[in-house]
Amino acid sequence: HDPMTARPLTLYLAAPRGFCAGVDRAIKIVEMALAKWGAPVYVRHEIVHNKYVVDDLREKGAVFVEELEECPGDRPVIFSAHGVPRAVPAEAARREMTYVDATCPLVSKVHIEAARHHENGLQMIMIGHAGHPETIGTMGQLPPGEVLLVETPADAATVEVRDPDRLAFVTQTTLSVDDTADIIAALQARFPNIVGPHKEDICYATTNRQEAVKAMAPHCDAMLVVGAPNSSNSKRLVEVGRRAGCSYAQLVQRAEDIDWRALDGIRSVGITAGASAPEVLIDEVIDAFRARYDVRVEQVETAQENVEFKVPRVLRIPA
Ligand code: SF4
Repeated sequence: HDPMTARPLTLYLAAPRGFCAGVDRAIKIVEMALAKWGAPVYVRHEIVHNKYVVDDLREKGAVFVEELEECPGDRPVIFSAHGVPRAVPAEAARREMTYVDATCPLVSKVHIEAARHHENGLQMIMIGHAGHPETIGTMGQLPPGEVLLVETPADAATVEVRDPDRLAFVTQTTLSVDDTADIIAALQARFPNIVGPHKEDICYATTNRQEAVKAMAPHCDAMLVVGAPNSSNSKRLVEVGRRAGCSYAQLVQRAEDIDWRALDGIRSVGITAGASAPEVLIDEVIDAFRARYDVRVEQVETAQENVEFKVPRVLRIPA
């Protein structure tokens, strides 16, 4: 742009944004599996919900499939960060396949909780989104039909349970913190003895990204969330942004998705990214603004993160 004529624009950058420790680990697992066993390495479901990440790994020799049946028995298979029903590793073991579980440790923690409550004789309720792989994976820790899915406060008001005094709940890790609080309140009002985590099972990364958006939203004429349309935590960031007072909040996968007409006349834009969106895509979006505006960047930092997860042992020892 011509700096003499370009319009001034403040870009607020949420921090934290983008990659979380679980996503970072899952991508590392695929890369290390390729280094250890060579291509092809199969991956059941998108390793993380981001097309750019998936395309990059595919280029390096990963083959993405939806079901284990699509994998040959003699190549390694990796399970995505979202987690899998118990039947999946069981079937891989039965077929004597080499498999590596890239389920985020914070999702595995929820799996263990659900199994523990079930063993203690409590009926499980899962608060989550129907059809999301994490919900399918967590519900699939128990026999079919054992976990009741609650998506909304209305579901919480009507769900039919075996014994109102023998109940426990778990949640998806990427939900809206505020919506989930409402759903839990509705459950607790009906079932005062329901057992659950201290608050919910929403992970640190989801919580921190939503907090940063809440702090940023009141300063922004518009907000862009870099993320995929099937990324639960990214979609929640759009909702949180709108609710926190930024009426124009949109999900964009890449800079090419930005609707420049809709941004006409704005003076400030908030930018954040879902936990599965790589920083290069955020840089791409920032560069697209720099090409059109006289940009001043300001960070809105509400937390610092230093979480890191180890990759499974099998990848830390040489082939
Ligand atoms: Fe793990 Fe949270 Fe990242 Fe999901 S969003 S992979 S639960 S850290």
